[in-house]
Amino acid sequence: DQGLQKSSENIFSKLSKAVIGKSKVDEDVLDQLEEILITADVGVDTTIKVIRRIEERVAKDKYLSTGELDVILKEEIAALLEENNTEDLSNFDLPKDKKPYVIMVVGVNGVGKTTTIGKLAHQFKQAGKSVVLGAADTFRAAAVDQLILWGERVDVPVISHGMNTDPAAVAFDTVKKAVEMNADVVIIDTAGRLHTKVNLMNELTKIKRVMQKFIDDAPHEVLLVLDGSTGQNAFLQAKEFTRATDITALAITKLDGTAKGGVVIGISDQFKIPVKYIGVGEKMTDLQVFNRKEFVDSLFK
Ligand code: GDP
Repeated sequence: DQGLQKSSENIFSKLSKAVIGKSKVDEDVLDQLEEILITADVGVDTTIKVIRRIEERVAKDKYLSTGELDVILKEEIAALLEENNTEDLSNFDLPKDKKPYVIMVVGVNGVGKTTTIGKLAHQFKQAGKSVVLGAADTFRAAAVDQLILWGERVDVPVISHGMNTDPAAVAFDTVKKAVEMNADVVIIDTAGRLHTKVNLMNELTKIKRVMQKFIDDAPHEVLLVLDGSTGQNAFLQAKEFTRATDITALAITKLDGTAKGGVVIGISDQFKIPVKYIGVGEKMTDLQVFNRKEFVDSLFK
Protein backbone atom coordinates (compact mmCIF):
# COMPACT_ATOMS: atom_id res chain seq x y z
CA ASP A 1 0.00 0.00 0.00
CA GLN A 2 1.34 3.43 -0.83
CA GLY A 3 -0.02 4.88 2.38
CA LEU A 4 -2.95 6.75 0.94
CA GLN A 5 -5.81 7.06 3.30
CA LYS A 6 -8.43 4.51 2.56
CA SER A 7 -11.46 6.62 2.43
CA SER A 8 -15.05 6.56 1.34
CA GLU A 9 -14.04 9.62 -0.63
CA ASN A 10 -11.63 7.89 -2.98
CA ILE A 11 -12.15 7.48 -6.71
CA PHE A 12 -13.23 3.88 -6.49
CA SER A 13 -15.89 4.25 -3.81
CA LYS A 14 -17.33 7.33 -5.45
CA LEU A 15 -17.51 5.48 -8.73
CA SER A 16 -19.23 2.54 -7.07
CA LYS A 17 -21.86 4.90 -5.71
CA ALA A 18 -22.31 6.64 -9.04
CA VAL A 19 -23.13 3.46 -10.91
CA ILE A 20 -25.62 2.01 -8.43
CA GLY A 21 -28.72 0.89 -10.30
CA LYS A 22 -27.07 1.25 -13.69
CA SER A 23 -25.89 -1.62 -15.81
CA LYS A 24 -24.48 0.18 -18.82
CA VAL A 25 -21.81 2.83 -19.12
CA ASP A 26 -23.62 5.70 -20.82
CA GLU A 27 -23.11 9.41 -21.16
CA ASP A 28 -24.48 10.07 -17.69
CA VAL A 29 -22.08 7.60 -16.07
CA LEU A 30 -19.18 9.17 -17.96
CA ASP A 31 -20.27 12.65 -16.86
CA GLN A 32 -20.26 11.48 -13.28
CA LEU A 33 -16.87 9.85 -13.72
CA GLU A 34 -15.56 13.09 -15.15
CA GLU A 35 -16.70 14.94 -12.07
CA ILE A 36 -15.22 12.34 -9.74
CA LEU A 37 -11.84 12.61 -11.43
CA ILE A 38 -11.84 16.39 -11.38
CA THR A 39 -12.85 16.43 -7.71
CA ALA A 40 -9.99 14.02 -7.01
CA ASP A 41 -7.56 16.63 -8.45
CA VAL A 42 -6.68 14.65 -11.55
CA GLY A 43 -6.91 17.95 -13.45
CA VAL A 44 -9.13 18.87 -16.36
CA ASP A 45 -6.81 17.93 -19.23
CA THR A 46 -5.93 14.53 -17.87
CA THR A 47 -9.54 13.85 -16.91
CA ILE A 48 -10.69 14.60 -20.45
CA LYS A 49 -7.99 12.31 -21.78
CA VAL A 50 -9.12 9.44 -19.55
CA ILE A 51 -12.80 9.96 -20.42
CA ARG A 52 -11.98 9.99 -24.15
CA ARG A 53 -10.11 6.74 -23.88
CA ILE A 54 -13.00 5.11 -22.08
CA GLU A 55 -15.44 6.51 -24.66
CA GLU A 56 -13.32 4.97 -27.39
CA ARG A 57 -13.50 1.63 -25.69
CA VAL A 58 -17.26 1.92 -25.27
CA ALA A 59 -17.62 2.84 -28.95
CA LYS A 60 -15.46 -0.06 -30.05
CA ASP A 61 -17.19 -2.70 -27.97
CA LYS A 62 -20.64 -1.09 -28.39
CA TYR A 63 -21.41 -1.95 -24.78
CA LEU A 64 -19.58 -1.61 -21.51
CA SER A 65 -21.10 -2.76 -18.26
CA THR A 66 -20.69 -0.56 -15.21
CA GLY A 67 -19.27 -3.60 -13.45
CA GLU A 68 -16.26 -3.47 -15.75
CA LEU A 69 -15.78 0.27 -15.50
CA ASP A 70 -13.49 0.24 -12.48
CA VAL A 71 -11.19 -2.32 -14.07
CA ILE A 72 -11.00 -0.24 -17.23
CA LEU A 73 -10.45 2.98 -15.33
CA LYS A 74 -7.68 1.34 -13.37
CA GLU A 75 -6.05 0.16 -16.59
CA GLU A 76 -6.25 3.63 -18.11
CA ILE A 77 -4.78 5.31 -15.03
CA ALA A 78 -2.01 2.72 -14.86
CA ALA A 79 -1.27 3.30 -18.55
CA LEU A 80 -1.07 7.06 -18.02
CA LEU A 81 1.33 6.69 -15.13
CA GLU A 82 3.41 4.24 -17.08
CA GLU A 83 4.00 6.77 -19.84
CA ASN A 84 6.08 8.96 -17.57
CA ASN A 85 7.14 6.61 -14.84
CA THR A 86 8.92 4.21 -17.13
CA GLU A 87 11.40 2.96 -14.59
CA ASP A 88 10.27 0.89 -11.70
CA LEU A 89 12.56 2.14 -8.99
CA SER A 90 13.80 -0.15 -6.36
CA ASN A 91 14.40 1.14 -2.89
CA PHE A 92 16.67 4.17 -2.73
CA ASP A 93 19.14 2.83 -5.24
CA LEU A 94 21.56 5.23 -6.88
CA PRO A 95 23.24 4.92 -10.27
CA LYS A 96 26.65 3.36 -9.67
CA ASP A 97 28.48 5.53 -12.19
CA LYS A 98 27.44 8.78 -10.53
CA LYS A 99 29.22 9.35 -7.27
CA PRO A 100 28.42 11.54 -5.58
CA TYR A 101 24.91 11.58 -6.98
CA VAL A 102 23.73 15.17 -6.78
CA ILE A 103 20.11 16.03 -6.07
CA MET A 104 18.96 19.64 -6.18
CA VAL A 105 15.65 20.09 -4.41
CA VAL A 106 13.21 22.84 -5.36
CA GLY A 107 9.73 23.82 -4.25
CA VAL A 108 7.87 26.63 -2.50
CA ASN A 109 7.84 27.07 1.26
CA GLY A 110 5.52 24.89 3.24
CA VAL A 111 5.21 22.03 0.78
CA GLY A 112 7.44 19.80 2.89
CA LYS A 113 10.75 20.41 1.14
CA THR A 114 12.97 20.34 4.23
CA THR A 115 11.12 17.36 5.66
CA THR A 116 11.51 15.50 2.37
CA ILE A 117 15.24 16.21 2.34
CA GLY A 118 15.53 14.95 5.93
CA LYS A 119 13.57 11.81 5.07
CA LEU A 120 15.67 11.23 1.97
CA ALA A 121 18.88 11.61 3.96
CA HIS A 122 17.59 9.12 6.49
CA GLN A 123 16.52 6.59 3.87
CA PHE A 124 19.76 6.81 1.92
CA LYS A 125 21.66 6.33 5.15
CA GLN A 126 19.54 3.35 6.03
CA ALA A 127 20.41 1.96 2.62
CA GLY A 128 24.09 2.20 3.59
CA LYS A 129 24.92 5.38 1.69
CA SER A 130 26.84 8.39 2.91
CA VAL A 131 25.02 11.69 2.56
CA VAL A 132 25.91 15.40 2.67
CA LEU A 133 23.25 18.09 2.86
CA GLY A 134 23.59 21.68 1.67
CA ALA A 135 21.51 24.46 3.22
CA ALA A 136 21.26 26.65 0.12
CA ASP A 137 17.78 27.93 0.99
CA THR A 138 19.43 30.89 2.63
CA PHE A 139 16.44 33.17 2.29
CA ARG A 140 14.70 31.94 5.40
CA ALA A 141 16.44 31.45 8.73
CA ALA A 142 13.99 28.69 9.59
CA ALA A 143 14.95 26.72 6.51
CA VAL A 144 18.63 26.71 7.46
CA ASP A 145 17.91 25.87 11.11
CA GLN A 146 15.49 23.13 10.19
CA LEU A 147 17.91 21.48 7.82
CA ILE A 148 20.63 21.56 10.48
CA LEU A 149 18.19 19.95 12.88
CA TRP A 150 17.38 17.22 10.39
CA GLY A 151 21.12 16.69 9.88
CA GLU A 152 21.52 16.12 13.62
CA ARG A 153 18.49 13.90 13.79
CA VAL A 154 19.59 11.58 11.00
CA ASP A 155 23.31 12.07 11.66
CA VAL A 156 24.53 13.46 8.36
CA PRO A 157 26.72 16.55 7.83
CA VAL A 158 25.02 19.77 6.79
CA ILE A 159 26.96 22.51 5.03
CA SER A 160 25.58 25.91 5.95
CA HIS A 161 26.75 29.50 5.81
CA GLY A 162 23.72 30.80 7.63
CA MET A 163 20.95 33.05 6.44
CA ASN A 164 21.19 35.59 3.61
CA THR A 165 24.42 34.13 2.32
CA ASP A 166 25.09 33.21 -1.30
CA PRO A 167 23.26 29.95 -2.10
CA ALA A 168 25.74 29.10 -4.84
CA ALA A 169 28.61 29.34 -2.34
CA VAL A 170 26.80 26.88 -0.09
CA ALA A 171 26.27 24.52 -3.02
CA PHE A 172 29.94 24.85 -3.98
CA ASP A 173 31.13 23.95 -0.48
CA THR A 174 28.64 21.11 -0.17
CA VAL A 175 29.71 19.40 -3.36
CA LYS A 176 33.36 20.05 -2.51
CA LYS A 177 32.93 18.39 0.87
CA ALA A 178 31.07 15.45 -0.68
CA VAL A 179 33.84 14.88 -3.19
CA GLU A 180 36.47 15.09 -0.44
CA MET A 181 34.73 12.59 1.76
CA ASN A 182 33.81 10.37 -1.18
CA ALA A 183 30.14 10.61 -0.29
CA ASP A 184 27.46 8.75 -2.21
CA VAL A 185 24.84 11.43 -2.38
CA VAL A 186 24.53 15.20 -2.07
CA ILE A 187 21.19 16.85 -1.45
CA ILE A 188 20.97 20.61 -1.90
CA ASP A 189 18.05 22.57 -0.52
CA THR A 190 17.20 25.71 -2.49
CA ALA A 191 14.91 28.67 -1.95
CA GLY A 192 11.50 28.55 -3.57
CA ARG A 193 10.53 32.12 -4.16
CA LEU A 194 8.17 31.86 -7.06
CA HIS A 195 7.12 35.48 -7.20
CA THR A 196 10.46 36.40 -8.68
CA LYS A 197 10.77 33.90 -11.47
CA VAL A 198 13.79 35.48 -13.10
CA ASN A 199 15.65 35.55 -9.81
CA LEU A 200 14.72 31.98 -9.11
CA MET A 201 15.90 30.94 -12.53
CA ASN A 202 19.17 32.83 -12.14
CA GLU A 203 19.76 31.44 -8.69
CA LEU A 204 19.17 27.85 -9.77
CA THR A 205 21.35 28.31 -12.84
CA LYS A 206 24.14 29.70 -10.71
CA ILE A 207 23.88 26.84 -8.23
CA LYS A 208 24.07 24.34 -11.08
CA ARG A 209 27.07 26.09 -12.58
CA VAL A 210 29.17 26.00 -9.43
CA MET A 211 28.39 22.34 -8.84
CA GLN A 212 29.60 21.59 -12.34
CA LYS A 213 33.05 22.81 -11.35
CA PHE A 214 33.35 19.51 -9.51
CA ILE A 215 30.96 17.24 -11.37
CA ASP A 216 30.32 17.84 -15.07
CA ASP A 217 26.81 16.47 -15.20
CA ALA A 218 25.56 17.75 -11.83
CA PRO A 219 22.84 18.00 -10.74
CA HIS A 220 21.83 14.47 -11.67
CA GLU A 221 18.37 15.05 -10.37
CA VAL A 222 16.28 18.18 -9.94
CA LEU A 223 13.54 17.15 -7.57
CA LEU A 224 10.43 19.32 -7.33
CA VAL A 225 8.54 18.90 -4.07
CA LEU A 226 4.78 19.48 -4.28
CA ASP A 227 2.13 19.31 -1.58
CA GLY A 228 -0.36 16.72 -2.78
CA SER A 229 -3.12 18.11 -0.59
CA THR A 230 -3.18 21.46 -2.37
CA GLY A 231 -4.76 20.33 -5.61
CA GLN A 232 -4.68 23.07 -8.21
CA ASN A 233 -1.88 24.92 -6.41
CA ALA A 234 0.37 21.95 -6.95
CA PHE A 235 -0.39 22.14 -10.70
CA LEU A 236 0.39 25.87 -10.76
CA GLN A 237 3.67 25.37 -8.94
CA ALA A 238 4.67 22.59 -11.30
CA LYS A 239 3.97 24.95 -14.18
CA GLU A 240 6.10 27.74 -12.73
CA PHE A 241 9.01 25.55 -11.78
CA THR A 242 9.12 23.69 -15.07
CA ARG A 243 9.39 27.09 -16.74
CA ALA A 244 12.24 28.16 -14.47
CA THR A 245 14.37 25.02 -14.69
CA ASP A 246 14.49 21.44 -15.93
CA ILE A 247 12.68 19.36 -13.37
CA THR A 248 13.60 15.68 -13.65
CA ALA A 249 11.57 14.14 -10.83
CA LEU A 250 8.73 14.85 -8.45
CA ALA A 251 8.19 14.25 -4.77
CA ILE A 252 4.55 14.60 -3.81
CA THR A 253 4.01 15.07 -0.08
CA LYS A 254 1.13 14.90 2.39
CA LEU A 255 -0.71 12.17 0.57
CA ASP A 256 -1.53 10.68 3.97
CA GLY A 257 -3.97 13.46 4.73
CA THR A 258 -5.94 13.33 1.53
CA ALA A 259 -8.03 10.96 -0.50
CA LYS A 260 -7.20 13.07 -3.51
CA GLY A 261 -4.28 11.09 -4.86
CA GLY A 262 -5.44 12.19 -8.29
CA VAL A 263 -2.92 15.00 -8.24
CA VAL A 264 -0.18 12.40 -8.76
CA ILE A 265 -1.85 11.17 -11.95
CA GLY A 266 -2.58 14.60 -13.39
CA ILE A 267 0.78 16.17 -12.67
CA SER A 268 2.87 13.32 -14.00
CA ASP A 269 0.69 13.27 -17.13
CA GLN A 270 0.61 16.99 -17.77
CA PHE A 271 4.22 17.76 -17.09
CA LYS A 272 5.70 14.49 -18.36
CA ILE A 273 7.82 14.15 -15.25
CA PRO A 274 8.14 10.94 -13.27
CA VAL A 275 6.92 10.85 -9.70
CA LYS A 276 9.82 9.46 -7.73
CA TYR A 277 8.84 9.81 -4.10
CA ILE A 278 5.67 10.24 -2.12
CA GLY A 279 5.39 11.64 1.40
CA VAL A 280 2.91 9.86 3.61
CA GLY A 281 3.47 11.41 7.03
CA GLU A 282 5.74 13.56 9.16
CA LYS A 283 8.14 10.91 10.44
CA MET A 284 11.50 10.26 8.83
CA THR A 285 10.35 6.87 7.61
CA ASP A 286 7.28 8.38 5.93
CA LEU A 287 8.78 8.71 2.48
CA GLN A 288 8.27 6.01 -0.09
CA VAL A 289 9.73 5.35 -3.47
CA PHE A 290 6.78 5.74 -5.80
CA ASN A 291 5.40 2.45 -6.99
CA ARG A 292 2.93 2.72 -9.84
CA LYS A 293 1.10 -0.49 -9.22
CA GLU A 294 0.73 -0.06 -5.48
CA PHE A 295 -0.36 3.50 -5.97
CA VAL A 296 -3.08 2.62 -8.47
CA ASP A 297 -4.21 -0.25 -6.26
CA SER A 298 -4.52 2.11 -3.32
CA LEU A 299 -6.89 4.34 -5.30
CA PHE A 300 -9.19 1.41 -5.86
CA LYS A 301 -9.41 -0.01 -2.37
P1 GDP B 1 9.13 23.46 3.69
O1 GDP B 1 8.79 24.85 4.10
O2 GDP B 1 8.73 23.17 2.30
O3 GDP B 1 10.54 23.10 3.95
O4 GDP B 1 8.20 22.53 4.56
P2 GDP B 1 8.52 21.65 5.83
O5 GDP B 1 9.43 20.54 5.47
O6 GDP B 1 8.91 22.54 6.94
O7 GDP B 1 7.08 21.00 6.10
C1 GDP B 1 5.94 21.78 6.38
C2 GDP B 1 5.01 20.94 7.27
O8 GDP B 1 4.51 19.85 6.53
C3 GDP B 1 5.70 20.35 8.49
O9 GDP B 1 4.83 20.45 9.58
C4 GDP B 1 5.92 18.89 8.10
O10 GDP B 1 5.97 18.03 9.20
C5 GDP B 1 4.71 18.64 7.25
N1 GDP B 1 4.92 17.54 6.26
C6 GDP B 1 5.91 17.38 5.37
N2 GDP B 1 5.73 16.27 4.62
C7 GDP B 1 4.58 15.68 5.06
C8 GDP B 1 3.84 14.50 4.69
O11 GDP B 1 4.19 13.74 3.78
N3 GDP B 1 2.70 14.26 5.40
C9 GDP B 1 2.27 15.09 6.41
N4 GDP B 1 1.14 14.77 7.03
N5 GDP B 1 2.93 16.20 6.75
C10 GDP B 1 4.08 16.50 6.11
